[in-house]
Amino acid sequence: MIVGVQPLAGFDKLLHYKVPDALRAAVRPGSLVRVPIVNRSHLALVLETNAIADCPPEKLKPVSGVLHAFPALTPDLIELARWMHSYYAARMESVLEAMIPAAVRDGARLKSEKYLAVKRVLSPDEHLALARKAPKQAKLYDFLKQQFRPVKKSLVLSRLGTTAVVANALIKRGLVREEARHVERVAYADNWTGGEIVTGLPPKLNEEQGAVVKSVADSLTRRKFAVHLLHGVTGSGKTEVYLRAVEQVLATGGSAIYLVPEVALTPQTVARLRGRFESAGHKTVVWHSHLGEGERLDGWTALASGQARVVVGARSAVFAPVRDLRLIVVDEEHEPAYKQDETPRYHGRDVAVYRAKLAGAVCLLGSATPSLESFANVHSGKYQLNVLTKRVDDKKMPDIQIVDMRIEVMRSRELVTLSRLLVDHMHQRFERKEQTILFINRRGYSSSMLCRKCGHVEQCPHCSVAMTYHRADETLKCHLCGQERGAPAVCPACAAPDIRWRGLGTQRVEEAVRRVLPRARLERMDTDTMSKKHRFRQILGDFRAGKIDVLIGTQMIGKGLDFPNVTLVGLVDADLSMHVPDFRANERTFQLLVQVAGRAGRGDRAGEVVVQTFTPKADAIQFAKKADFDGFAAAELAVRKKFNYPPYRHLIHHLFRGPNPEKIKFFAEHWVKQVEKALGGAVEIRGPTPAPIEKVKDEYRYQVWYFCARATEVVPELVRLQGGVKWPDDVTQVLDVDPMNLT
Ligand code: ADP
Ligand code: ZN
Repeated sequence: MIVGVQPLAGFDKLLHYKVPDALRAAVRPGSLVRVPIVNRSHLALVLETNAIADCPPEKLKPVSGVLHAFPALTPDLIELARWMHSYYAARMESVLEAMIPAAVRDGARLKSEKYLAVKRVLSPDEHLALARKAPKQAKLYDFLKQQFRPVKKSLVLSRLGTTAVVANALIKRGLVREEARHVERVAYADNWTGGEIVTGLPPKLNEEQGAVVKSVADSLTRRKFAVHLLHGVTGSGKTEVYLRAVEQVLATGGSAIYLVPEVALTPQTVARLRGRFESAGHKTVVWHSHLGEGERLDGWTALASGQARVVVGARSAVFAPVRDLRLIVVDEEHEPAYKQDETPRYHGRDVAVYRAKLAGAVCLLGSATPSLESFANVHSGKYQLNVLTKRVDDKKMPDIQIVDMRIEVMRSRELVTLSRLLVDHMHQRFERKEQTILFINRRGYSSSMLCRKCGHVEQCPHCSVAMTYHRADETLKCHLCGQERGAPAVCPACAAPDIRWRGLGTQRVEEAVRRVLPRARLERMDTDTMSKKHRFRQILGDFRAGKIDVLIGTQMIGKGLDFPNVTLVGLVDADLSMHVPDFRANERTFQLLVQVAGRAGRGDRAGEVVVQTFTPKADAIQFAKKADFDGFAAAELAVRKKFNYPPYRHLIHHLFRGPNPEKIKFFAEHWVKQVEKALGGAVEIRGPTPAPIEKVKDEYRYQVWYFCARATEVVPELVRLQGGVKWPDDVTQVLDVDPMNLT
């Protein structure tokens, strides 16, 4: 047998080897093997068995070893790797490395321990004889006989104060057996995610949930590829729908993958999942970035062997080597966190859909604020739409109040952090011993120009994105088309002076709260606090226990949190996400508002939301206030259509960077001419322009944007063209297909 392998050795090439008879049974497509390359042994992944080599078979070298009892990739994953390689213009090797955890590639051994158990039960006479002849052996035998399951050898021996010689004698007599068992270091019940397992009987589905569960169940029963988009308002019980779908898959012998944007931020969801499935006897593998090597290998082995059939994790869990995949759930499918911002730059949701297609499985996408990409796929008939329009138990949707910060500024004649309305509401909550969460979205920088008097923001006339203020040369630039002009000294709309805007940070908000509520117990959660995972958990625990009155944090802390005593949510600065040079800025703002508001009023009392903004009339804010997703989507899709932006076309970002700005600019311009010549009408090119962050670590950055109808046709062509250009060593380039972060 001849195999075609992709080495994990720093280059992209299919190499051929022959497989010695002794390894033949173990080598399958997707197996990790060791192969010799120029006198050194390297790791490689088998892409094809029964391959035809381009040289005579006797010249081929043999595969020298196989790493695991199970292939690292199932056949659908091998197909998926090929697709990612071509769709995302990523090297095959980097794709495989993203798919196969390092612990698995390293082939770290599972830790195994010896266990003892009684093999043959003695008759009373035999027992008497043994007790007389060998009392120590009898004692060990008696102990083991009382156990229900095999016990760890080392533990028994030390506990009884006896030795391996005694145990071995019993084994020799055929009375006791010894077996090697893998020790599960995670034991699947990884405590890190909060240690919580929420158990209890599943709730009775309400009518809407019942209809959605049935619709998904029908697809699962059909055993054909289908994508469902579940649009359910916050608190409508989407998780329950996911759980029922997973239950059905487990009951019929299949496997399920459950993706969340970030495991560390969804402890409650994970606890509910584990509670439900572990109490039903199904091991649940939790897949997150804080796992140790051994833990990861154990979880991976449990999935690859079919011992565990459900995995919960962030985007890379989409590559879990589960057997008989029937369902992939993508919770909060709109989350940009699903997109990986390093090579391979894949989007976890899109990969999930593609994998489901290859596996003939069902993909269930869910969100309170679906991405416009997914929503457009509903319109074109690719996805089925399911809706949950009401909160569970008739809880009311929170009431959203918009504060016009232009008026606040006028009143107090200075920059205001917390409006009167917000402060009043916070006082009330404090008196009533209810809790408040304040969100401050730090994703945006202070780079747009926003008039604090009239709320005017300078937009590029050609691109429908905010222009970016460059302090260095006092200019406004469009980061899409490069259009540039001097920064105005006064507001172009109302002539107010000093329109430069400085953003707020979490610390500044904390100071402001301390001033107005000196007796309140505050806690701040941002990237600094979140880097310490115990601190993160502790704060959430304290908040739940009512030891904190006001929690201040970035929007990241809002994910999936369900605190019944939170009756007030404040969004300190809605504008930060709105006026960034990104055509998705409105969509992000709408999502942010709705998601943040969804944290309020989860308990028995209704919730209130206060949103502070300088642009209260903006679509994103008005539609969020009315909780009108359909209205927002229709308005925003019309804008996207007008400018022919995603989801109507694909967008590809091409970054060039290096130490010499002239050289980069020269090469980028030269390159663009070649693309124009080769691809002509297939793409619309914008740029090259300096990237929004023009210089990083002494490297200058230029970018080119391509808009195209079909990325599958354009990307391979760009890669082919790249291969034909002689690039200088000090110009690095990065292609990002369907980028999520434009700023
Ligand atoms: P979502 O994900 O849509 O925001 P969740 O799934 O977190 O909503 O559900 C909100 C709360 O309602 C959870 O505490 C959940 O246990 C509960 N819940 C879900 N479905 C039901 C139901 N049918 N009856 C009662 N409670 C439910
Ligand atoms: Zn422009």
